[in-house]
Amino acid sequence: MQGLGSVAMSFRIRTVAEALVVSVACYAGAVIGNVLRFPHLGTAILYPPYAIVTAALLLSPVRRWWIFLLAGSVGSFVPHRLVGDPAAFILLTEIANYARAVLAAWGIRRFGDSGRFYTLKGMTAFLLFAVVLAPGVGAFIGAGVVAVYGDGGYWAAWRPWLMSNVLTGITLLPVVLIARDHVVRRSAVAGLRRWHEASVLIFSLLAAGALVLLAPNTSGTSLYAPLPLLLWAAVRFGPGGTSAALLMVSAMTIIGTLDERGPFITPSPSDGLLQLQLFLFVISVPLLLLSALLREQRRTADELRASQQQYRTIVEDQTELICRFRPDGALTFVNGAFGRALGRPPQDLMGAFFWSFVPPDARDTSKLLASLTPDQPLLTWEHRLVTNAGENRWEQWRVRAMFDRRGQVLDYQAVGRDITERKRAEEEHALLESQRAHAEALREADRRKDEFLAMLAHELRNPLAPIAMAVEILRLVPSGDEQIGSAREIIGRQTAQLARLVDDLLDVARITSGSIQLRLETVDLGRVIASTLESTRPLIVARQLRFETDLPEGPLTVRGDSVRLAQMFSNLVNNSAKYSPIGGRISVTVRRDANQVVLRFRDGGVGIPGNMLERIFEPFTQVHRPRDAALGGLGLGLALVKKLVELHGGTVRADSDGPGLGSEFTVRLPALRAAATEAPDSIPSAAATTRTAAGDPVRILVVDDVVDAAQSLADFLRLGGNTVHVAHNGRVALELAATHVPEVVFVDLQMPEIDGLEVARRLRGRAESSDMVLVAMTGFGQAQDRRQTAEAGFDHHLTKPLDPAAVHELLAMRRRHDGPSRAAE
Ligand code: ADP
Repeated sequence: MQGLGSVAMSFRIRTVAEALVVSVACYAGAVIGNVLRFPHLGTAILYPPYAIVTAALLLSPVRRWWIFLLAGSVGSFVPHRLVGDPAAFILLTEIANYARAVLAAWGIRRFGDSGRFYTLKGMTAFLLFAVVLAPGVGAFIGAGVVAVYGDGGYWAAWRPWLMSNVLTGITLLPVVLIARDHVVRRSAVAGLRRWHEASVLIFSLLAAGALVLLAPNTSGTSLYAPLPLLLWAAVRFGPGGTSAALLMVSAMTIIGTLDERGPFITPSPSDGLLQLQLFLFVISVPLLLLSALLREQRRTADELRASQQQYRTIVEDQTELICRFRPDGALTFVNGAFGRALGRPPQDLMGAFFWSFVPPDARDTSKLLASLTPDQPLLTWEHRLVTNAGENRWEQWRVRAMFDRRGQVLDYQAVGRDITERKRAEEEHALLESQRAHAEALREADRRKDEFLAMLAHELRNPLAPIAMAVEILRLVPSGDEQIGSAREIIGRQTAQLARLVDDLLDVARITSGSIQLRLETVDLGRVIASTLESTRPLIVARQLRFETDLPEGPLTVRGDSVRLAQMFSNLVNNSAKYSPIGGRISVTVRRDANQVVLRFRDGGVGIPGNMLERIFEPFTQVHRPRDAALGGLGLGLALVKKLVELHGGTVRADSDGPGLGSEFTVRLPALRAAATEAPDSIPSAAATTRTAAGDPVRILVVDDVVDAAQSLADFLRLGGNTVHVAHNGRVALELAATHVPEVVFVDLQMPEIDGLEVARRLRGRAESSDMVLVAMTGFGQAQDRRQTAEAGFDHHLTKPLDPAAVHELLAMRRRHDGPSRAAE
């Protein structure tokens, strides 16, 4: 606050000081005005207080104008009194003086450039207000006062009043304003040469003045003498120099006249005064206007030059090739980059033919230039060119047509860019896109293949189911014929083999789609190995192999799906058996190694080449096929093993010393710590699955739209002494269920019209069906499939082909009135 206060204070001091200066200057000015009176007339030639007060107003804010007006009045009061003017008259004339100064300052500020004379408009406004209007108004009021107080008439007072103010405004005021502006802006001091020139001009003016204006009895025509010198000032020194020169001429004119010399001393003093004033007015106005015009033009030219310079540097600094050419193709400008691109200095390219630098196949573009219009003046194209080094490069050109006012083309401006990098990026992008699309197509094809395989496996299961069932029936029906017995065994074995292949295919499809789910439990590996041996025994026996196992003492537990583990191990043992010579030796060793259980499956068979040790785990990869074609597979077994081992959190690897030297497959599974070991779930043994039903017959309804499948299952069930009815669609099934009230209903899920799920739902809706055991038969065995059948009201979910053992188990459970249990897959 204190800072602001001191600033306000210093302002006040400054204003008071300025008011004092104005007051003193007006005093001096009024004294000079008294001195500068035309001989024999006594009329003032100039009146300096006008210039002083107007300049003060122009340089201060409007709210302080009253201070300077007052200061001016105070300053000029005394000199007026000294020449004998009455106080009231002096005070009244001040009204005229105020009006004059205020009008001049307001007009210059409002319409001009505050007395800086930068433009012709500023100078015009200055001349209009400070030289014409303000003196006119001042004289109008002042002459009135004179008419009232003085002895002369109104017009006699008006004219000298006007003219002295006009002259003051035109000579003294610009000098004061420009001098003050220079001081305020601290303009650079002019160079020495300019001082020399100014000195010569001043000297010439003094000389001409001495000869013409100060000499006695000079003629009127000699007044033209200073004109060339004043023009010189206007052309070379701007409004400031011009007004200074004019002031010199005025001063000399007035001095000469006061001394009764020069051309204005005529027989009639009033004519002389009029001529003097007219002379100064007439030469000043055009010269001041001319000087302002020249100054403005010089400024415009300077600005233009600066902007051109700016534009040139921008154009030169571009990496783009920039040029201009005429409609005939002749170059009128090229930038540095253009020259560098062609390896020639830019000036050498002036007049060269633009289109000669464009590859021949792109030259037709030149014809398109004719289609450009002022509304659409742009043309863009891209072309490829081969550089001297034989490199392929791309350029983009953008041409703008320049038109004159009538719409005729003046010339063209062209900008060329090297877009090779962009083109390359685009090409790479396109390549990547096509590769990506290709990869996508491959993935899609792969996905369809997986879908097809899954569908194929699923469809193959349908015919397999009745065949397996029929073989089972044949086994149960005693036949004395040895040939039939052998044929039945062949069918049984081949069906089992086929079922295994189909299962592998289905499992691989499931693993690939990520839909397989393990049923994890605590499993004793010893028991899984035992069950594996059981299932692979027929092959081992057939190939007369010696099978050795080396298992540690006590239980060795892992967390896993016992069915899947058995599947993995049988695949490995089957392979060992398949790829070993008849009578060979295979072995399984199980060891605990830190936190892992390590199982090694060894054989002394054909072995595996080193480069295939990894690849054999990929689906459909086969190195060699077993000699016995009946043992062949699809190349899926190891792929399944690998996936299943990984699902169990383990690893598998193959080793071989080479062809003919046998192979070893090592499976590592995370072991369970002894503390976490629980009693393992029992592994369904082969003995359990062959248990046949013996007991009360059961009323059964079989529902399947595939006649063979329904029939074979019914026959199989009848062999067990059960009463079986068959329905081939949902509607008949519901009717039979109502009439026979079966205890167990086997329902195929996929049927037209009323499907298996719907049959179950409707049966569950009936009172008499509450005790019925509903068994779903389907190719789908995933968790969500099971959930769906359970929700529809099924008690059991069997997957096709039905395992006869599972069917027996189920019927036995039914007889024992056991609750629903896990159905075998
Ligand atoms: P496949 O149905 O052909 O047996 P697998 O995925 O089980 O399919 O095995 C893939 C291939 O690995 C086989 O075709 C065979 O060439 C090779 N292979 C698998 N096990 C052995 C083994 N114990 N000895 C030699 N080669 C084997």
